[in-house]
Amino acid sequence: MSSSPFLPLPPGLEILTTTTVDDLLRVEVVSTRSNSRCPLCFHPARRIHSRYTRVVADVPCGGFQVQLVLQMRKFFCDTPTCPRKIFTERVPIFVQPWARMTTRLSQMLQALGVATCGELGARLSGHLGIHASPTTLLRRVMALPTAPPGPVSILGIDDWSFRRGRKFGTILVDLQAHQVIELLPDRKTETAAAWMQTHGEIELVSRDRGEDYAAAARLGAPQARQVADRFHLTSAPHRRVFDPFWRKERLRANDLWGGGLPGGKPQGDNSMPQSRACPKAFTARPDCPAHHGEAELPNLAYQRR
Ligand SMILES: [Zn+2]
Repeated sequence: MSSSPFLPLPPGLEILTTTTVDDLLRVEVVSTRSNSRCPLCFHPARRIHSRYTRVVADVPCGGFQVQLVLQMRKFFCDTPTCPRKIFTERVPIFVQPWARMTTRLSQMLQALGVATCGELGARLSGHLGIHASPTTLLRRVMALPTAPPGPVSILGIDDWSFRRGRKFGTILVDLQAHQVIELLPDRKTETAAAWMQTHGEIELVSRDRGEDYAAAARLGAPQARQVADRFHLTSAPHRRVFDPFWRKERLRANDLWGGGLPGGKPQGDNSMPQSRACPKAFTARPDCPAHHGEAELPNLAYQRR
């Protein structure tokens, strides 16, 4: 059977057998093409190296979950200058190399994920004969290509953490559309400036109070006005006012809880001595055994509940 109107396959693939187990339709498919093109030099190759089986999920058929068992081949590339000597047969468009599902099933999951969400889409897919997890749906949605950013006149720029505390980049936001338009791989002035140079329509850059992004805006968008965004305007004075207060209070609490005692850290350190640290330190009561007889309770400001 070359193909079936209920399960259309691309030219060069033929259905060998079909078996059903519960709600699973298992379809064995064989490739009948006489040659395959090398993925590097694109020359057709005919010499077969070996055969292998590849299992991929496909779109449901008649309420059945469909599994394709593809009997594929490996070919020798006989082009002398080609670095690839052996390659696996490709089925372009129908299934991508290394993919565990066909392209049409991937597109169906993307549509499902975009229309619903991870959890809801997974519940719905079970009724459609697909059985995809929420994570799979989200991965399919995230694999969708991002639309290129349109013209942006008011640009927001700030630090971005790819991995908290480890790897930082730069986030660029269209402040009129309230949309993230780009994530740059680092926080360098040159990288941000290079991006801005491709967007001559920028009229205003909202940034933090650091010098890096100020320099990037001067280099990349000299025509734009620069302003400090509201968060950085309010957070810096807030820190200037309250940080000395909290630092002083921490020092005082450290003194009360045993700074300078044997095993403790010297006075003036902002952290509690490890040997005297108590997980209930901030909720300690006078009868707390961890602090019995050592010191009076710290200021009420530290008695968090
Ligand atoms: Zn080749």
